[in-house]
Amino acid sequence: MRLILVGPPGAGKGTQAVYLAAHYGIPHISTGDIFRANIKGETELGKLAKSYLDSGNLVPDSVTNEMLKERVGQSDAAGGFLLDGYPRNVGQAEFLEGVLVEKKITLDAVLELSIPGEEIIKRLSGRRVCRNCGTTSHIIFDRSKVDGLCDSCGGELYQREDDKEEVIAHRLSVYAEQTEPIIAFYRELGLLKVINAIGEVSEISANAVATLK
Ligand code: AMP
Repeated sequence: MRLILVGPPGAGKGTQAVYLAAHYGIPHISTGDIFRANIKGETELGKLAKSYLDSGNLVPDSVTNEMLKERVGQSDAAGGFLLDGYPRNVGQAEFLEGVLVEKKITLDAVLELSIPGEEIIKRLSGRRVCRNCGTTSHIIFDRSKVDGLCDSCGGELYQREDDKEEVIAHRLSVYAEQTEPIIAFYRELGLLKVINAIGEVSEISANAVATLK
């Protein structure tokens, strides 16, 4: 299975990606997670990416495309992969087509998680992430058992710089202007499947699997 998840920030891509990657036994490749790991590790890539992430802007394609190509070339991705957060614009979608042609492989589907704008702001502004293991929780919809501490590992929960309200609005406009056009791109290729991203996490996962069957 070679799958792309697309949808605005806050649609639940990360949550569904973890489920679907386990379900299909494929690696979950999140460009956002790779950037955050590099920022945490203070690598050269992390230093370069930080200001883009903090401001809600896209990291330049020249950097992101090479990083993605290198990641899908790793051995665990040989039997399939799930991309979460990539491609983020038509240039990246075209670059990915080139990588797939080079590797003589094709995508199976592009799954769009569809959600109205007002719901996104509610979800993102309450999202908290574990500094240690990256697990997400939500101060209203999915509270941790102990305030401020991760249920999975006990690590400290924090609010992503780009989940602050002023940055969310900017990320949504970046999505509308740059990322939404890839939906038409994949619709034309006959790969697009759309599901509703509102409701119980488990219902959305079941719907995703049924739609991809
Ligand atoms: P995400 O975790 O997918 O919400 O991504 C967080 C941030 O990482 C984005 O706002 C961008 O700054 C950066 N980023 C993630 N994926 C990409 C990509 N495919 N192209 C450019 N920037 C990206």
